[in-house]
Amino acid sequence: MILYDPESHISLRDYGILIPVAPDRSARVFSEIETRLAARGLARDRWLASPEPIELSQDDILRVHSPEYARRLYGSGLEQAVLEAFELIDDHGQPHRYAPETAVRSMDELFASVLRWTARSYQAGVEALSNGGRFCYHLGGGAHHGHYTFGHGFCIVNDIVVSIRKLQAEHAVTTAWVIDLDAHKGDGTAALTEGDESVTTLSIHMADGWPLDLPEVGPSGAPHPSYVASDYDIPVAAGEEAEYLPRLEAGLAALDGRGTPGVAYVVGGVDPYEHDGLPSTQSLRLTLEQLVARDRMTFDFLHDRGIPQAWLMAGGYGERAWEPYVPSIEYAVARSLGLSDLNPSV
Ligand SMILES: [Zn+2]
Repeated sequence: MILYDPESHISLRDYGILIPVAPDRSARVFSEIETRLAARGLARDRWLASPEPIELSQDDILRVHSPEYARRLYGSGLEQAVLEAFELIDDHGQPHRYAPETAVRSMDELFASVLRWTARSYQAGVEALSNGGRFCYHLGGGAHHGHYTFGHGFCIVNDIVVSIRKLQAEHAVTTAWVIDLDAHKGDGTAALTEGDESVTTLSIHMADGWPLDLPEVGPSGAPHPSYVASDYDIPVAAGEEAEYLPRLEAGLAALDGRGTPGVAYVVGGVDPYEHDGLPSTQSLRLTLEQLVARDRMTFDFLHDRGIPQAWLMAGGYGERAWEPYVPSIEYAVARSLGLSDLNPSV
């Protein structure tokens, strides 16, 4: 199933934020998928999940984030928290990729959308657990840089861990895996689940570059939480693209020894794409074919083991970011529905 909620879509330019996420990324992916599935003769209700949106409580957020950080987000500290998470003020106190005078929406609206988006990621898990194909792709979510006391890397609330903690609190699952395919290390997720045997994390990411170029030790002498290890970290250095798929396959094989989780969240960022529009992802340049193979390998691995899988879009920047999602999602929908034609065109 696919979960698509235009109401939770966040167009950063509406807030004066000039980070190059195409404003129509989710809509474009949805429209392309709809065309492909219609060509297969599939009625919408076979592949489109339409649960009523739910509202998360502050307690849902407090399972994951600190009381002080929640107070900022729900109070007068929201704007400053957003400026920090999106790095919108430079070292000289000047706006950086930020034009507040062009904003047409308030930061309160941004946070409301973040909460709705987070709720949708949770609902993707519920859908994956309840539908026969055991698969749901939320066309949003994946804020893996959200930490206990702060957000960074364009992430305010870590929807992945919020979703897992809520599913655990409701006894829908006991254990979970997070398989993070985004170009950037899933640092917030690793730090938020450190030492917790019930959540196993795997992250395959750029060996160098943000967040692994931050100072390892802060001014207070405390280590930066971005360096907390995932259970399986798979760094890929510039020029090692040919090693990417074999290393992911080995990583998945290692996960296989960890039992069967109640649910797997897959952070499906396509910012390793060679045509990605974020300059800082340039050290990992996978082709369209490699990205689609990555996603099929991950989907098949979970599907073959009967593990419910909820996918999130995560990073993917610039005008061509929609491209890798489409054949990957079409394949996953087709296979989860048991269709025999599994060769969507790339
Ligand atoms: Zn990323």
